Amino acid sequence: MRDLDALPKVHVHVHLDGSFPRAAVQRLARRRGRSFTAPRTFASVHDFFSAYGEVPPLVESLGDLADLCRSLVLAEAAHGVVYLEPAIEPQLYAPRLGSLHDVTAAIIAALQTAADECGIQAGANLTINTDQDLPIADDLVLVAAEFAGKGVTALGTAGFVEPAGLARFRAHADHARTAGLQVVSHAGQTGGPDSVLEALDELGATRISHGIHAARSTSVLDRLAREQIVCDVCPVSNVRLGVVADLATHPAPTLRAAGVPLTLNADDELWFGKSVTDQYRVAREAWNWSDEALAEVARTGALVPGLSDDTRDRLLSSVDEWLSSSPTERQP
Ligand SMILES: [Zn+2]
Repeated sequence: MRDLDALPKVHVHVHLDGSFPRAAVQRLARRRGRSFTAPRTFASVHDFFSAYGEVPPLVESLGDLADLCRSLVLAEAAHGVVYLEPAIEPQLYAPRLGSLHDVTAAIIAALQTAADECGIQAGANLTINTDQDLPIADDLVLVAAEFAGKGVTALGTAGFVEPAGLARFRAHADHARTAGLQVVSHAGQTGGPDSVLEALDELGATRISHGIHAARSTSVLDRLAREQIVCDVCPVSNVRLGVVADLATHPAPTLRAAGVPLTLNADDELWFGKSVTDQYRVAREAWNWSDEALAEVARTGALVPGLSDDTRDRLLSSVDEWLSSSPTERQP
């Protein structure tokens, strides 16, 4: 067993506002005279989304937000993350703390500065919430396009309802692609294979956040494998939100067996209490994936277009180094 924190990895399905280190959020809450505790369970995905809304109101300045972003990058680097691409939603702070542009600029600057400090790379997936952001989607995509090549690497969509009516966002996806951004869509989380097809066909998504319920359709799995659409899978989140019954029956091994490229991600560590490294531990312990298989997952991160050539080379060579090191860590 090799040390999983030492395995170099990308972390690309990580919602900024649900991923700030818990201690950093608690410090901020104390400054506001509040306490912050994350519930152990959520009765439903709806409960989760209402809890999720507790953090942004604690943030009272762009300085607070920058501090949280820095804490996140430092924590991720300590887990062996060489490329971090959080899903950012400046609309959770704008216009309260500034314009969409100013909030995005503050987030990007904080991520980039901290990433430089740690010697890693950070991108950002500017995300439209398909349940509620249609009225501001034009503004969001303009900001995403403005920061393309300057810290924003993707345009994302996320929401509870799947299929999400993604045709409503087709023009936004086209705009983002023209600006050079990858289009990434949540699908196959609460919805089935039809939601994955919607993301591919209506939005032209080239990466899927979750995608796990594609496993119910051989033809959709075949297409994901054939087109090498990376699915950014979050096993612990899936169980905690009840979209999968348990880790033992999680569809990730089915995706992998079908040749679908996948990465492993925490989704919202603040709420689920498990890091990106813990997701690899789940794969080792619940699915019996070997270190060779875990290295293959880590290498899949190289398919994410946000990585610079240097980061991609570093990822691939350091994964090889990890695999050629002696296995020392004993399974607990
Ligand atoms: Zn997500």
